[in-house]
Amino acid sequence: MTNNTFSNDAERGLLLVLSGPSGVGKGTVCSALRKKMEKLVYSVSATTRQPRTGEVEGVNYFFKSKEQFQEMIATNKLLEWAEYAGNFYGTPLQFVEDTLADGRDVILEIEVQGAMQVKKQFPQGVFLFLMPPSLEELRNRIVNRGTEDDETIRRRMKLAGDEIKLLEEYDYAVVNDQVEVACEKIQSIITAEHLRKDRILSKIKKWMNEVNVSC
Ligand code: 5GP
Repeated sequence: MTNNTFSNDAERGLLLVLSGPSGVGKGTVCSALRKKMEKLVYSVSATTRQPRTGEVEGVNYFFKSKEQFQEMIATNKLLEWAEYAGNFYGTPLQFVEDTLADGRDVILEIEVQGAMQVKKQFPQGVFLFLMPPSLEELRNRIVNRGTEDDETIRRRMKLAGDEIKLLEEYDYAVVNDQVEVACEKIQSIITAEHLRKDRILSKIKKWMNEVNVSC
């Protein structure tokens, strides 16, 4: 990755990272956001997990064998990757690079270990943590999804506790009580982040130079 790949330039898109415990509703919030913000680009991850009913290759995930995934790691094709609940997940690097360079905002919906790897490489990213209204509500959501067995639910609840401890590493905490409201909050954050003075400072410096030259 080149140094300026994720530079904090107004011409480049924002890198948004949305994390939160599994079952908190990241997928639902992301889909709702994408409907509201047509220009927001969703990064499709690679995973070794088996597809769930209804999941589509290239839309929900790129489904890979363990060997294929390891090959992606070995050839630096991933911006970040993590093992989560017995499966591997990772963000394809090239797609993110190209989209940001194109001036479009990208959202990664990933778990906390991966988010922390992204933060090391790109601290200017915008790190959002989606919170459940309560742990009880989180458990209900995982159970109601009906795709996980008891052992997986137990493991995911234990992980959720560990994940929530990392909240302090994030820039924003958004409680997902109602999807619509959570989306509105994230939209406001995106708008505010685009207005950060750091992002437009290089442009302003150019203006100042021009003003000084013409005086
Ligand atoms: P699920 O199996 O429920 O689709 O996802 C399990 C967890 O993996 C979720 O917390 C999800 O956000 C996370 N995840 C999905 N894609 C990626 C990725 O590319 N990298 C990382 N680190 N986590 C991911």
